[in-house]
Amino acid sequence: MSEQAPVGYELVRSRRRSLEVRVFPDGRVQVRAPLRMAARHIEAFVDERQDWIARQRRIMAHRPRQRWSHGETCLHLGEPRRLEVTPVARPGGRVSLEGDRLRVAVPGPEDESQVRDAVHEWWRGQARVFFRDSIDRQFPWFADRGHALPTLRVKKMRTRWGSLSPRGYINLNLLLMAFPPAVIDYVVMHELCHLEHMNHGPDFHALMDRRMPDWRRHKARLEG
Ligand SMILES: [Zn+2]
Repeated sequence: MSEQAPVGYELVRSRRRSLEVRVFPDGRVQVRAPLRMAARHIEAFVDERQDWIARQRRIMAHRPRQRWSHGETCLHLGEPRRLEVTPVARPGGRVSLEGDRLRVAVPGPEDESQVRDAVHEWWRGQARVFFRDSIDRQFPWFADRGHALPTLRVKKMRTRWGSLSPRGYINLNLLLMAFPPAVIDYVVMHELCHLEHMNHGPDFHALMDRRMPDWRRHKARLEG
């Protein structure tokens, strides 16, 4: 039995079939539910997951927050880069990589959100190329099995690294650009394996073991 006090949560109803609970980096808990599901089902679902929710919130609380100011370090493709932030007159931002220094020019250098947004926009241009390359290298085995190439969508997502929709899209999180290419390959392989198995059952994991024997190491890096 859990000793944790139940946490409050935000309920979002939408046209979906299943229940899902999300824990955001700021500790907020959101439950997404089908439009007409009875409240007692939703409460029972959340009750069963109290331990998991508490664990996620502890993880979030201890995770050091990325600072986006001059002199701080940010990760780019798994490599630490020193941020050099300078002011620029025009709106938007300009980002360039020089050795291990990431130079960011924004109108408000003291505003961390401007620096972060400029880096993320810079990533967006590269993410499609990196993610596309990873898919192209790993997809041929799935093509041989008769699967159609999923369409790549790059999104900034707060609670997941990737997803594969039954409608033929592979969604990958822009923020994967902070991780080494091998970790990006792991997420892509995970999503591609969902072409064969739409769940995380034993067959799915057996396929991951065959396609990428060291996937657990990359998963640990992603979660660490
Ligand atoms: Zn999955």
